Amino acid sequence: MHLLSALIFPLCFPVGPAASADTVRTPPFVARELAKGVFVVPGDTGRGSEGRPNAGFIVTRQGVIVIDALASPRQGEALLRTIRGVTRQPVRWLVLTHHHPDHHFGAVVFRRAGAKVVAHPDTRVLASEGGQEALVADWVRVVGLDAMRGFELADAPDRPVTGTDTLRLGGRTIVVAAAGGGHSAGDLTVWLPGERVLFAGDLLIEDGITMVVDGSAAALGRALTRIDSLVPRVVVPGHGAIPADPAALVGRTRTYISGLVGDMRAAVERGVPMRRALSSLPPPDEDRPVSLNSRRRRNAARVYVEEERSYMGLEDSLP
Ligand SMILES: [Zn+2]
Repeated sequence: MHLLSALIFPLCFPVGPAASADTVRTPPFVARELAKGVFVVPGDTGRGSEGRPNAGFIVTRQGVIVIDALASPRQGEALLRTIRGVTRQPVRWLVLTHHHPDHHFGAVVFRRAGAKVVAHPDTRVLASEGGQEALVADWVRVVGLDAMRGFELADAPDRPVTGTDTLRLGGRTIVVAAAGGGHSAGDLTVWLPGERVLFAGDLLIEDGITMVVDGSAAALGRALTRIDSLVPRVVVPGHGAIPADPAALVGRTRTYISGLVGDMRAAVERGVPMRRALSSLPPPDEDRPVSLNSRRRRNAARVYVEEERSYMGLEDSLP
């Protein structure tokens, strides 16, 4: 509950020697133009959900709309410098595709630059079992204390989106839509109907193995159907290479999740315990919670529970 109440929840970190903040400035990233004025800032490729996510920005006559803020204030600053290399227009909006730290924790930089945050109000993933502070402490371990210098949690959107919201700026139309909770409760997609470009967040990952641990397989299935129905020319997945054929990546994701649902449903119906249902999968990688093996294993456990609940009539399921 308290997650939604604070406008910005400031967290204080000990500050090291002043020199380190200046000397370890992350250089700007590379921006690639997908359509006139529509840019992707590609993250890491070949690493699935690990590594830096993709981000994007749209330049209009009246300002810039940024999609995702990356993993820390340091990365957010580098993203802002990347945008400044393309345009001096002010950043008006920051759209967060969801609230996972690697897409969200650079948001303070854009807030300070004057941007309003557009996001789903459901920020459940920002609370780990140990609460917000434990989640942030975990993240400090991942990206380093220096990268998190100045961090504030931007967990209350200026413009909350729970359905479909159309942003109009400088002659551009940008449709932000709640995606139904396939990857996380706060999933949004960003669709440019004029350019037919879709920023899908982590509903799509380059290798097709999207995480449903904080979402659900049934909701992911519905989100994939919606993405297909848009017939995008370009889709930007949350992580990894932009596919040459958007429909192929959607199809690969659907094949994976439907196959997993089928396997887990059959196991539940035969009374096979979860442990045995998961025994054909390689074990998760310790200390790599979103490696390929970890994603497959964690998804299987999540889908097994979904199917068990659906079998008992408690939860919907992928048809
Ligand atoms: Zn995510």
